[in-house]
Amino acid sequence: MSARTLPSAAPWLRRATIDLDAYRSNLGRLRELVAPAELMAVVKADGYGHGATHLAAAALEVGVRWFGTLDLRNAHELRAAGFRPPAGPDGTADPDAVALFAWQFSFTETFERAVSERIDLGISSLAQLESVARAVEAVSQASSPDSGGAVDPALTALVHLNVDTGLHRDGVLPADWEPLVTRAVELVGAGVIRLRGIYSHLAEASDDDDTDSAVLLTEAVERANTLGARFDRRHLTASSAGMERPELRLDMVRMGSNTYGIPVTDGVSAADRGLTPVMTLSARVARVKRIAAGTGVSYDYTYRAPHETTVALVPVGYADGVSRRAQHGVSVALRGKRYPIVGRVAMDQFLIDVGDDPVEVGDEVTLFGTGSRGEMTVGEWADVIGTIGEEVCSGIGSRVPRAYLSEGADLSEGAGLSESADL
Ligand SMILES: *Cc1c(COP(=O)(O)O)cnc(C)c1O
Repeated sequence: MSARTLPSAAPWLRRATIDLDAYRSNLGRLRELVAPAELMAVVKADGYGHGATHLAAAALEVGVRWFGTLDLRNAHELRAAGFRPPAGPDGTADPDAVALFAWQFSFTETFERAVSERIDLGISSLAQLESVARAVEAVSQASSPDSGGAVDPALTALVHLNVDTGLHRDGVLPADWEPLVTRAVELVGAGVIRLRGIYSHLAEASDDDDTDSAVLLTEAVERANTLGARFDRRHLTASSAGMERPELRLDMVRMGSNTYGIPVTDGVSAADRGLTPVMTLSARVARVKRIAAGTGVSYDYTYRAPHETTVALVPVGYADGVSRRAQHGVSVALRGKRYPIVGRVAMDQFLIDVGDDPVEVGDEVTLFGTGSRGEMTVGEWADVIGTIGEEVCSGIGSRVPRAYLSEGADLSEGAGLSESADL
């Protein structure tokens, strides 16, 4: 047999289309909404599954200069992709510089790369602050061994102190606040750190709880001020309160879900907010079968056809982030009409019952998206399976190729035809 030639342009089988125009438009709308507060675009978890580097490049084009990455890995990836670090001790010299804010670190993190790449660091303990100070000294010493121990101002660490105002995840409890601030003030005096911010994160349990948290943050700022600390900015809210509670926006709002067009409040759609869902999840029908009344399909035969019907195989499963719970109530769109998922969702595929309607192998199925093809939005999908859109989007697996749309054009390699049929 001759050597097998791999198809170079086989039609894609499954994909997530990321609409960068929608993302830019959402960002524009949200920046206007929160102004004069600044908008930080949160791109943690690889941009909630959308692809952080592509998103950040699009956001940069519309003037976003702050990105929340959660961890250092995501931040280092963005620096490696060419997102320029803030220059100088105050970090404001370069208008194209991008601040990358990280706040979850390994227990053994030494912060040296973070300091040299000028990542903004959310600090939750005295021990972390000391590690950052040691990193500044080490990196400074390595870059200019003859400086006699003086800190290079270009290496001043960019620190945000994190106050726990009720969520009880990270952040410093009020009892530990004074020693942390006292040490931070010393380090500012020595040129080792700059206090770029003070912040907290809301529990969103109720408006009153959030108000209490905001009061605690204000008290923390006041106590810190009496200890000689000055913060460049205060930030507290994410998508929900950033949208609903203008008085809590302070100097900066950290938004993820809203920027992706994922509604964050029950009963309110992205469209109601003037936002557009950024991700569309699609697959192509892989097989079509006519089955007799009473026939069981997929594992455990949890569905039996009530009458003779046609079932179509959709090659996406729970390994791709389609929950097994989607069997109960999720419908997907094909040729502009919705059809229910029937039987168990398997690791790699599920079935839909299309009745007597025409369907062919290769037909495009839209699982969720903007709704323009009759499909559910990710918000509706999430409601049906009892979760939130953030979980659905960030759970879309690495086996699903991302295709990027910008100014109407498909930016992905091979214009979306690059995925081989790998069922
Ligand atoms: C994830 C996260 C955000 C963004 O939350 P959304 O509700 O998606 O806007 C903001 N701040 C912190 C600390 C977070 O962990």
